[in-house]
Amino acid sequence: SITTSTSIGISVFHDFDITMEELVKSADLAMYVAKAEGRDRYQFYEPQMQENAERRNRAQLTLQNAINNEELSIYYQPKISIEENRVVGFEALLRWKTGEGEEISADFMIPMAEESGQIHELGVWVFREVCQQVKKWTELSQFTNLIVSINVSANQLKLGNLNQIVKSILDEYDINPAFLELEFTETAIMSDPEMAQKELDAIHQLGLKISVDDFGTGLSSLNCLTRFPIQTLKIDSSFISNIGTDSHDETIIRIIVAIAKTWGISVIAEGVETDRQLAFLSSIGCDLMQGHIFSKPVEASEATKNIIDTHQYYESCFARFQTFLKSNFRPATGKRMH
Ligand code: C2E
Ligand code: MG
Ligand code: MG
Repeated sequence: SITTSTSIGISVFHDFDITMEELVKSADLAMYVAKAEGRDRYQFYEPQMQENAERRNRAQLTLQNAINNEELSIYYQPKISIEENRVVGFEALLRWKTGEGEEISADFMIPMAEESGQIHELGVWVFREVCQQVKKWTELSQFTNLIVSINVSANQLKLGNLNQIVKSILDEYDINPAFLELEFTETAIMSDPEMAQKELDAIHQLGLKISVDDFGTGLSSLNCLTRFPIQTLKIDSSFISNIGTDSHDETIIRIIVAIAKTWGISVIAEGVETDRQLAFLSSIGCDLMQGHIFSKPVEASEATKNIIDTHQYYESCFARFQTFLKSNFRPATGKRMH
């Protein structure tokens, strides 16, 4: 039995200036909008659609040039364990510096690439770039017990072949998958839980770790979420920035930490910027942290220096917090999560 659906685009002849070709082209554009909005529907043409299509084309061209002209790079932000006094890994973050020296943020670039469909090519580029770097780092004797995480967009997950792409790149660079973690947002996972379950299971089978980014901001059902092979929850920075000013958000942080501990997985706070946030998180047993208080994302060469000279890095990056924590708080007791 075959199930079909129909997506219809309609353009109305109301202007003698329009040619037959333009009329059909407008209907075609409207049909693509009908498909993008979930298929099995009809859509009338609106002039805005033409503008959107042109914007998409322009963005597509600029991003393609950026890839060709090597304007993209990956920065690495350390993740710190307060209890272990060490860097436990890095998050890989995409950066775009245009030929004119303008820096374009990932928050702008990723949605643009999603809209133009280039997110898949971009995602592969990021994965390759990180694998190449991790391969170099694994040759350093100091690169032990470190995990590098890569962000994956909802659209990459939707495609349904992410695990095959990941596998082929891992094979290409011959990397131990245990060094890598993929970060999916809660919203990306929950937008199609069935599909996400298959992909995440397959990726987990390959030996990569999985974390849920921006946790607490999406609409997840715990019943559903706990079926996924997840190793880490990342508490969204919007909660962290309200520590000390919003007790409701502090409660949410406490609940997320409790969920992770009961579930037996790790929990990390992102966007930690102040001593007060650091002290609060540490006092409630959230040992893993990431944020400007320790370090901004840095170029691969600087991250390499920090891996080689961990002692000096420790001194410069977070030694002062040990004294701060000892004088202000009793560390949370209990079994540490891995
Ligand atoms: P994210 O994965 O939640 O990454 C955390 C963001 O917070 C990063 O912004 C990071 O630079 C920033 N950040 C870290 N510590 C602090 C802090 O203490 N204070 C403040 N104010 N910000 C902090 P960035 O690099 O601009 O990335 C934004 C988002 O873009 C990321 O959010 C992620 O969703 C996406 N993204 C970045 N790189 C990639 C990539 O390679 N692929 C995909 N698909 N998405 C990416
Ligand atoms: Mg992330
Ligand atoms: Mg995040």
